[in-house]
Amino acid sequence: MEYESKLPYHTQRMHAAAVYCSDGRVCEQYDDFLKNGLNLPRYDRVALPGGPACLAGYTAARLEEAGVLDELKFLVDAHGLQRIVLIQHEDCAFYKSHLQVREQSLEQLQKADLVRAAHMIRHVIKMDNVEGYFAKRTETGVTFVPVKLD
Ligand SMILES: [Zn+2]
Repeated sequence: MEYESKLPYHTQRMHAAAVYCSDGRVCEQYDDFLKNGLNLPRYDRVALPGGPACLAGYTAARLEEAGVLDELKFLVDAHGLQRIVLIQHEDCAFYKSHLQVREQSLEQLQKADLVRAAHMIRHVIKMDNVEGYFAKRTETGVTFVPVKLD
């Protein structure tokens, strides 16, 4: 079955990318936040299990790390990327299943990993314009809390 999306196609790029976990439960909220919270509609998406956790230096995520860094380099060259938004989310299964983390305060670790991921991007991709957020569930939805990355 062929399907035509009636959403308009825009030729201009945003020169911004977001790196986040591919968990389908929060992807619509990510889109809402990037589009309406940060005014970045049509941003480039780098979505994979764990998102920025893959750039935090875990041995278990070495392959993912190489892949994400390659993808970001490509976006810098091909899409003129100038800004990178990193998002971690509460209750991310990647930490428990893939990284085997048994940390009590997973949120603190995830925030520290945002700092490590930003450092890696600044070091390897040579881009300073990196920002981080932690997505937390609320009664009615998801809130995005800025995380200081310096
Ligand atoms: Zn996740």
